[in-house]
Amino acid sequence: MRLGNLGGRAVLIRDARALDVEKASGGIFSSRTADILDRWSEFASWGASADYSDSVAFDEQDLGAPIPEPKQIFAIGLNYHDHAQEAGLPSPEHIIVFTKFLSSLAGPNVTVELPGETVDYETELVVVIGEKAHKIDVANGWDYVAGLSVGQDLSERTIQRRGPAAQFSLGKSFPNFSPFGPAVVSLDELPQKDGLRIGATLTGPDIDGTLVVQDGNTSDMIFSVPQIVADLSQIVTLLPGDLIFTGTAAGVGMGRGIFMKPGYRLTSTVDGIGTMTNTFVA
Ligand code: ZN
Repeated sequence: MRLGNLGGRAVLIRDARALDVEKASGGIFSSRTADILDRWSEFASWGASADYSDSVAFDEQDLGAPIPEPKQIFAIGLNYHDHAQEAGLPSPEHIIVFTKFLSSLAGPNVTVELPGETVDYETELVVVIGEKAHKIDVANGWDYVAGLSVGQDLSERTIQRRGPAAQFSLGKSFPNFSPFGPAVVSLDELPQKDGLRIGATLTGPDIDGTLVVQDGNTSDMIFSVPQIVADLSQIVTLLPGDLIFTGTAAGVGMGRGIFMKPGYRLTSTVDGIGTMTNTFVA
């Protein structure tokens, strides 16, 4: 099941068509994805056998953030060895956590205005929490996950590194710096949920053809999804609809000397989940 947000209404997406949740469920479920996440297991059983005959074709540009107003957004830093290496930093012993402020959250296919000359990309698997979690065990970590999605953790590196100590959150929270989608994909759709290919390509005025900039696998994460959920939950309470950006693999721009310029188009993909394309303008 793939839960999306089309023009502000919750939809199930299948074969490039969208089924309006409120209408198809006869009002049992709301048109707001936040309300649906509060009743995730009930919704998942309904969605698994939903009748798609009233689904309609749609324009991908009309997709909003699948969860438009999560209560909390977490992001994990340095969660792949090869990315820590390219950043010139040791792999962490504990999860490194920051936030991306809510106002930076956006739908999957947005245009991003560049606030500076050192904007970088980080393609990430996004975890959507489905059940309240506090002090849970790693062995049960997946039980608290509603589904997975694709996200970009866009970062203005100069702002991120400004000052005597790094402050990740601000440099990663300009408008549209947290696009995610195209949908929240439930775990039953992902038989290989611990090993998903994750990557990004870039095109632009001064780029010859299509440049593959990231090509990794989520099996290379230092802290796995259940480990991240369990570790976070030792301190905070995770709530239905919360998002966790789980870190990026190698290939980010700062390691390659590439930063986003007007006219660049970045396509981010996690196999089995989906693709999104973001365009950069001055
Ligand atoms: Zn990141």
